[in-house]
Amino acid sequence: MSADPTAAEIVLFNGVVADPAFRETLDKAIAIKQGRILAVGGDDAILRLAGTDTEKIDLDDRLVVPGFIDTHIHFYEWSLKRQDLPLDGLTCLEDLLTQMRRAAHRRPSGQWIMGQGWNETDWTVPRQPDRDVLDHVVPDHPVLLWRCDLHLAVANSAALALAGIDDATPDPPEGRIERDATGRPTGILRELAINLVRRVVAPPTDTDVRAAYGEAARALHRRGITGIHDVRLMADEDGARAFRAFQTLDHEDRLDLRSWVTLPGHRLDDIIDLGLRTGFGNPRLRVGHVKFFSDGGMGARTAWMVDSFLDAGRGMPMVDMAELARSVARADRAGLAVMIHAVGDRANRGLIDLFEALEADRRRTGGPRPAVPHRIEHVQMIRPEDAERLGQLPLALCLTPANLLLDMNLIDTAVGEKGRWAYDFRRLMDTGAPVMFSSDCPVCDPAPLLGMHAAVTRRRTDGSPEAGWHPASRVTVREALAAYTATPAAVHRTPDVGAVAPGKRADLAVLSGNILGKPTPWLPDVTVDMTVFDGRIVHRNF
Ligand SMILES: [Zn+2]
Repeated sequence: MSADPTAAEIVLFNGVVADPAFRETLDKAIAIKQGRILAVGGDDAILRLAGTDTEKIDLDDRLVVPGFIDTHIHFYEWSLKRQDLPLDGLTCLEDLLTQMRRAAHRRPSGQWIMGQGWNETDWTVPRQPDRDVLDHVVPDHPVLLWRCDLHLAVANSAALALAGIDDATPDPPEGRIERDATGRPTGILRELAINLVRRVVAPPTDTDVRAAYGEAARALHRRGITGIHDVRLMADEDGARAFRAFQTLDHEDRLDLRSWVTLPGHRLDDIIDLGLRTGFGNPRLRVGHVKFFSDGGMGARTAWMVDSFLDAGRGMPMVDMAELARSVARADRAGLAVMIHAVGDRANRGLIDLFEALEADRRRTGGPRPAVPHRIEHVQMIRPEDAERLGQLPLALCLTPANLLLDMNLIDTAVGEKGRWAYDFRRLMDTGAPVMFSSDCPVCDPAPLLGMHAAVTRRRTDGSPEAGWHPASRVTVREALAAYTATPAAVHRTPDVGAVAPGKRADLAVLSGNILGKPTPWLPDVTVDMTVFDGRIVHRNF
């Protein structure tokens, strides 16, 4: 214990402190005590708050910003996937087989070997692995290895046998079991055929999940993240396991991320019956939104579009929109906020229609609102006339800027010049609707600095295209920073996070470069040098 009970526990000094409006200020130092920011000010004033036991850290001109909040991350899936063998960066098939041989040595026979990330187009000889080459080195362990695009995987004979896949097994809907000239499966599985194997893999135990969460949380801390909105994507059994792990870690005081946990839309009846409401919980763990879908994605051409794709049809809604409207109305009346996935411009128009009707109804009936606003996820492509209507609605928008870096070429091919209405951050922010940023991880790396870079420059990290992709849709660094911090805090009615100010919770990120100064540094070169969660240093690299 500190000799002086009024002294700060941690003092950060000789830095640059962003104020709540993300202007550069003259404040250089912060005092932290009992999980909160005690004071912000000049070095002399703040250092006077230090006692003999205070940890004093010289920031050496680093910038202090609020801890980042990733408002759309598939935390459960990412956490578990990180436990797989990483197979990216290999140079040839022989490399992959060496990894397999080692993995087999480390575990008893019969235990699964899962891996992901191999990409034969990067190899000296671009030959995909098949069951026979895997069997040769790993005959006694079932093996399932995802290609980097996750649309294809290879299994060995042990895995195929456990899944009951043989010459007579028909292709499942939306999946393909590749076969050789004699009709024998080669081990290569495409799309939903991968699930035939995945569903026989022993599910993780609760202990496995908690361990995976712990490691994933540390990986997020290294990126400056202190809060997440975990989006439920998975089957019911996984969903329960995911939520249980959050709750157990919270009870054990080991949940080092402020977490909003989404609930699955297809369980709306149960959620209402139980009386759960969005916002229930404590400052670390809360019940979040109920998740629904309206359409698919651009890559598969399943996004629902106003005009046809240049190389495909218009896509279509994934659900009956009238049915979706009824579900949203029921959730709304029960105090549950919803988040709805919408990628195509027609899907976004459909949701705006839906929410306008919901608000018109509310004006007639005078019903209360859920504790936090409903959200549209992605808003990937939207017509200007529809975006204009957003300003009149009490909605929040959740966008995924880093995804733009992966999608530029795809969108050019899919819709041509109309791509200027895709990832239209500028227009969406100008509507006045609150815009939050996210990673949709594992779709993109969860680094907020990468998302900010995408939103601010609309260039890949290698600098291309030099003029920026549809550069009129750029936003400023301050706006991008707010979308990862202050805006999600305001939208989710948690005013004690999202700013560096006295009385706020001490959730902070310390950046190597002053991204609020002029000129703006190249954001991919900026590192997160320290992260503070709830007044504790959870990451530090200097
Ligand atoms: Zn997602």
